[in-house]
Formats: sequence, C-alpha cells, structure tokens
Amino acid sequence: MTDKRDLVKTLDFQLDVQSDNESLLYDATLEARSVYNESIRLAKQGVDWDVIPDRVADDANLVKNTTQRVVAKALGAVENYYEYDDFGQPSHTKDGAYPLRANYEEGYNLSLTDDGDVAFRISAKPYRHVKGVLEGSDAHLDVLRTALTSDEWKIGTAEALFHDNNAELHVTVTNTERVVRGKENSRTVIGVDVNEDNVALTALSEDGVENSLVIDFPEIKFERHRYFTIRKRVQNAGKDSIHDTLEAREERFVRDRLHKVSRHIVEWSHQFEKPCIVFEDLKEMRDSINYGARMNRRLHHLPFRALQFYTSYKASFEGIPTGWINPEYTSQRCPMCGHTERANRNKKRFKCRSCSHQDHSDHSASVNIAVKGIEKHQDWNVPALNSLPVVRKVRRQASGAVDAPAVTHSTARGYQADGQVGVSD
Ligand SMILES: [Zn+2]
Repeated sequence: MTDKRDLVKTLDFQLDVQSDNESLLYDATLEARSVYNESIRLAKQGVDWDVIPDRVADDANLVKNTTQRVVAKALGAVENYYEYDDFGQPSHTKDGAYPLRANYEEGYNLSLTDDGDVAFRISAKPYRHVKGVLEGSDAHLDVLRTALTSDEWKIGTAEALFHDNNAELHVTVTNTERVVRGKENSRTVIGVDVNEDNVALTALSEDGVENSLVIDFPEIKFERHRYFTIRKRVQNAGKDSIHDTLEAREERFVRDRLHKVSRHIVEWSHQFEKPCIVFEDLKEMRDSINYGARMNRRLHHLPFRALQFYTSYKASFEGIPTGWINPEYTSQRCPMCGHTERANRNKKRFKCRSCSHQDHSDHSASVNIAVKGIEKHQDWNVPALNSLPVVRKVRRQASGAVDAPAVTHSTARGYQADGQVGVSD
C-alpha cells in the first residue's frame, strides 16, 4: 500500500527589503485593500461576478494577476457571507493593509544567490519591484532552497503582508510527485539515538541487525562549549552586541553541522529495503517524571529537535517515512536479552547484569529504538538477536563532505570488550 498525498507547506519569511522600497510594498498592500473592498462592493451591487475582476483591475494600480488573486479572495469572502448570514462586521468596511496575493513568476519571483540566500522580487506595482532577501528559520529556508532546485516541488502563490510593522512573505510550496510510503509498510527500521557528540544508527529487519553506524561530531559539542564560555565573558563585560553576534555565529555553525549529519543519516538509510527512520519522541519524555541524568543531559545540551526535524523532512523528500517512539528505557534495556535495569550504563559503556552483554551504550540505545519502532508500527516480529555486527564509526571531517567520510573499523570483540569505539581518525 502506498500513501500518496500532496504535501503543502506554507513557509513564513521576513523580508529584508532593499533601500526604501518598503513603503512601496506598503502602498501596494493598501491598494490591495481597496481592490478587496471594491470587489465586495460591486458584488453586493449585483454586478456579474465574471466581470468584476476586469472592472476592478482597470482601476487598480497593481499587477493584473495580483489584482485577480485579491478579487478571488474577496469574492470567496462574499460567498461565505451568503452561507453564513450572521457573519458579523462586513469586512469591506475595514481599511489598512491587506495581504498582497501573488502568483509565482507573475506577481513575484525567487532565486538563489551565490551566497545561498534566497532573493525575492515582488511586483508591488506595475513595473515597480520590491527586491531583497528572505530571512527566516533555517528549516523554512532550507525547504524553499530545495523547492527552488528540485522539479518535484512547485512553488505556489505567496502573500506579502505586514505583521507588527514588519514586511513578511508567506510562500506556499506543494510537492505533487512525492509518494511517501506509509511507515507501517516498512522492511527495515532504523533506530536513531541522538547524543551530544554523536548519533548512533541501527538498521533492523526481520532477519536481524542489517548494519549499524555511529556518526561522531565532537566538534559540535566542542564549539558550543567554547562559544558558551566566550559569550559569558563578553556578557559580563557588558558587550551585548558582540554577545548577539557570537550567538548567531554559533547557531550558524551548529545548524550547518546538523544539516550535514541529517543528510548523512538519510543517505545511509537509503541503502536498506523500504526503510523507516525512528526517533525518540522527547515530548513524551518530558512528561514522564523520572528520565534520568543521561536524558536530562541530552535534553539540555543538544538541539535535538532540530536534528530530528532536519532528518525527518530530508527523509520525506526521499520518500522515507519517519516514526516516533516513547524513549522510556531505550538506554536501560539490554538489546540482547531484553533485561531492563536502571543505571546499568557507565558513561559510554553498556553492561547487562543478566546476560553480561557489553556494548557501546549509544549503539545499544539505537537498537532498542529500532525494536520499539518495529513493535509500534510494523506487523512483523522483532528478530531474536544473538549477536550484533561490527559497528562502523565515521567522524565528520571539518569540511563536512558527506561523500568522503573518514571511515574506521573496530572489531566486534574489541568494541564490546572495552566500550571504546574504534580507532579515532
Ligand atoms: Zn542482557
């Protein structure tokens, strides 16, 4: 069974407008208001709806298709009036800015700059454009960049509007080709254990563990601690502006790394048959009272949700579904015999007191997450685990090139005996 659906997203951005063009944009939103009001006025006069767009467009100082979009919205509102008589205050008596609704490549345009920014050009008035770059959350910008470079994505209408006196652009993107398999229809479940300085992955199928991987990123932890110390120092010296600059720089660094790591997770998952990527749902964890020191540390020291979010939407671009499980006991359960005991891990080493299985603790956790993912979403059985394969460990290089990771191997015996992970590069 495949689960085909259009994926529609609305992405919100702030407009960093060139020079004094913001007033031009504001004028256009006032013009949009008068188009909106005039359309409703004509409709209430009984003018034929088919001729309203042209009549309004003749007088409006807006790009024609933008006028048409606003008229369509006004007539839609009128339709609702007919449906709901006691709708309250008629909206065409209001004044002030009204969102400028524009068709992509007609009323507005987007393009990637050499710096990786997304530049916009909005036709505010005929032959008069408002230009600049979009600012917004990294996640939204990343979806838009993908949409600009992929045929699968269609960029749709946008609304330029003012929110708290700030110019914004809300862009609709639709993925019409993507087929996302339902997560319950997977053959391989990949457990993802996210930690402060690594992410551990285990791919589990009906036949057992297909493969495991630990991606190390000690530089993220290192840089975050380093920035934290410097920021504290400048803050104490009362230099708030430097503090903010440093904070932005740190964020950029961490985001950039998390994007690379998330891309790596998705690429690795791709090799398996019908994969489903499973994460711990930390919302559930926060609600439970006793989640232990390890979880507490993880919650506070890593932009977890960012990495999970980046991975999950990158996976969805590839048609890979994601699932979420309750993280309770994922780090206390023995992946071999199922014995669960609190505090049976010592730093990075897991040791079972029942069957004396030993392993890297993050690796164990990723196996347990995959097990829970199978139990929650799949109709096949969790395989009995008699042995775990060699864990491959890679460290992201400073350049962060996904296709050229430094690969190190460790023997299963060495790995399990001392809890150390392979040879460092
Ligand atoms: Zn055990």
